[in-house]
Amino acid sequence: MKAMVWYGGEKFIKENLRDPVPQDHQVVVKVDTVGVCGTDVHITQGLFPKSPPMILGHEGSGVIIDVGKNVDKSRIGSRVVMNTTTYCNQCFSCKNWSISRCEKAESTSGMFAEYVVCASQSAVNIPDKLDLEQASLTEPASCCLSGAEMLNVSNAKVGVVVGGGIMGLFTLAFLKNLGVEKMIMSEPVKIRREISKQFGADILHDPKDSELNDFIKDNNNGWGADISVEAVGKPNLVAKCIDVLRPRGQVLMIGVSPQGSHLPVDLYEMHYKEITIKGAFGRGDVFDRTPKEISKLKLDNVISKIYSLDKTHDAINDSSKGKGIKLVIKP
Ligand SMILES: [Zn+2]
Ligand SMILES: [Zn+2]
Repeated sequence: MKAMVWYGGEKFIKENLRDPVPQDHQVVVKVDTVGVCGTDVHITQGLFPKSPPMILGHEGSGVIIDVGKNVDKSRIGSRVVMNTTTYCNQCFSCKNWSISRCEKAESTSGMFAEYVVCASQSAVNIPDKLDLEQASLTEPASCCLSGAEMLNVSNAKVGVVVGGGIMGLFTLAFLKNLGVEKMIMSEPVKIRREISKQFGADILHDPKDSELNDFIKDNNNGWGADISVEAVGKPNLVAKCIDVLRPRGQVLMIGVSPQGSHLPVDLYEMHYKEITIKGAFGRGDVFDRTPKEISKLKLDNVISKIYSLDKTHDAINDSSKGKGIKLVIKP
């Protein structure tokens, strides 16, 4: 099979590798679409520890073409998304943290390739009405769904999302679906701001036009937001998210702040206003039901550009420059 192998830094080489053979419990998936993730960008920039050579790509969809001998043959032909890890439901982390933190997890092979081999458990069927391209959005969406469901949204009138990238957009949509009455998207780039409407944004805020704190109060009878989401990964924006809340408000950290960074906030304010702040990393327990959840959303124009496997390097480069909403590769 053809695969794009990462050799460290920005070096990728397309190679011909042996076609994968499934073990008894595994399936082989012919890859249709793989999203380029901020994590892939961070890996090539040395900001995320990974040892080359390896095949990157973890947001993939495709069709099962072969199964191991313990897997029902009827799975061949199934349209699936691939979870990156398995879970056992037995270990401490599965029981007390989330199944995506399983201590015995078996990893799915890298997806910037023609074929992927993974446990049958990790190949999750998708609804008929979800096409394979849009299904490749499952992994990032699952991280947002898991995060959104950590918050208590009962009686939440106003939520604000800071950052209209793919993570901010999905988190906004899920919070709205969970019952937040009015969602504000704060984002400086116009196309991202505009597309947030199809994810359910009620009010758009351009940080170049006005101060977010004042803007929210103008839209909420003088009070701060019930919920704020930081979807960029900058400590000063997490601080901003705390600042814009009403008393007993909740912050969700979806963006990945750099390792070693600190939160520049007045702790007295946080204490006095009884603020809750929640970290949210990864798929939690929700990956398997995410395809159904995203099939209910309007996902037109979310995929901004499709690259061939040969252009993997360009796709990662363009993604690092923040081009488009979501860039994907079709191996
Ligand atoms: Zn990802
Ligand atoms: Zn486990």
